[in-house]
Amino acid sequence: MQTLESFAELEVEELQKEQLLRSFSENERHNSARILRNDKELISFCCNDYFGLSQHPVVKQAAIEATEKYGIGSGASRYISGNHPYYDLLEKKLAAYKGTEAALVFGSGYLANIGTIPALVGKGDLIIADKLAHACLLDGAKLSGAKLLRFKHNDIEACRRILETHRQDYQKCLIITETIFSMDGDRAPVSELATIAKQHDSWLLTDDAHGIGVLEPHPEVPLQIGTLSKGLGSYGGYLCASQKVIDYVRNKARSAIFSTALPPATVAAAIASLEILEKEPERAENALENAQYFTKLMGLEQAQSTIVPYIVGDERTALDLAKKLEEAGFLVSAIRPPTVPKGTARLRFTFSSEHSRDSIENLSRILQTRTR
Ligand SMILES: *Cc1c(COP(=O)(O)O)cnc(C)c1O
Repeated sequence: MQTLESFAELEVEELQKEQLLRSFSENERHNSARILRNDKELISFCCNDYFGLSQHPVVKQAAIEATEKYGIGSGASRYISGNHPYYDLLEKKLAAYKGTEAALVFGSGYLANIGTIPALVGKGDLIIADKLAHACLLDGAKLSGAKLLRFKHNDIEACRRILETHRQDYQKCLIITETIFSMDGDRAPVSELATIAKQHDSWLLTDDAHGIGVLEPHPEVPLQIGTLSKGLGSYGGYLCASQKVIDYVRNKARSAIFSTALPPATVAAAIASLEILEKEPERAENALENAQYFTKLMGLEQAQSTIVPYIVGDERTALDLAKKLEEAGFLVSAIRPPTVPKGTARLRFTFSSEHSRDSIENLSRILQTRTR
């Protein structure tokens, strides 16, 4: 007989052997580009807080005031009594920002995806997803029960071929992509996908988790999901869509209905962040320019976003390199399967408006000497 403990122990040993074991280390973040770990200050190139908003005094103040006014927890789901006044304001602002009629805020980006997708499609329907689409998009697809087909990453023709061959065999059809791919940093051909979706009587859903601020909004996309937890520096997720779609999804998305509302502070902070992002577009420009400065120094293809992958291949090399960089004062994440396909383990660098040119030069110099 296998006990629960021996089962868990064997599984962990297996992960350890494959260099895939994950654990937490304690971090203190007092600044958007720096992290204190084991009493050592490191320059972080692994936070998704691209514009320094999680540490912005105005954003912090908004959260403090909301807490003073309404307390910490929201007390219930939004459908019962948790719908504090900040929600309505944030949803209006998100919709205006994205160019849609309405928005629905969820507990996180993950919850937005696993709630929205099954609300829209199910058995007898088809989902066509980019091969590199984020785990939560695929989890949403699986939960829905719809048939899932994948197309080669960013390959419009591959998507079109699937539509031409299979669309007619299903009722509804949802096409799914990220706007900026979280582990590769490249941009999806969003406008082209919107066009072929229309031609084939299909609906396009984009996940803009890493695009806000950096990418122009795409109002032609009928289903725009995103997160409040990255560039906006707070926590939560959202769907922007037409009023009719939002009214429907609000009534169907189980991850919205059966989960407690976000804390007032979190929603108030997201409002403050969005206002700053709109007033100070140079934050996003600087973050992107910092990424492009790095790719230029490294002789890599020009960054299309604030995310730059540095693919090394195997897990061991990625971990070793991340460790060496940490010893040199830089915190960088080694990304391994199953987050990325096997054989493409990598370092993933994220750039923020808060990085100095000096620190980017140092990083690139050290990376070049360590990999030579
Ligand atoms: C991070 C991420 C999410 C999840 O958003 P959370 O708010 O962190 O739950 C969803 N989609 C993509 C593409 C992401 O990178």
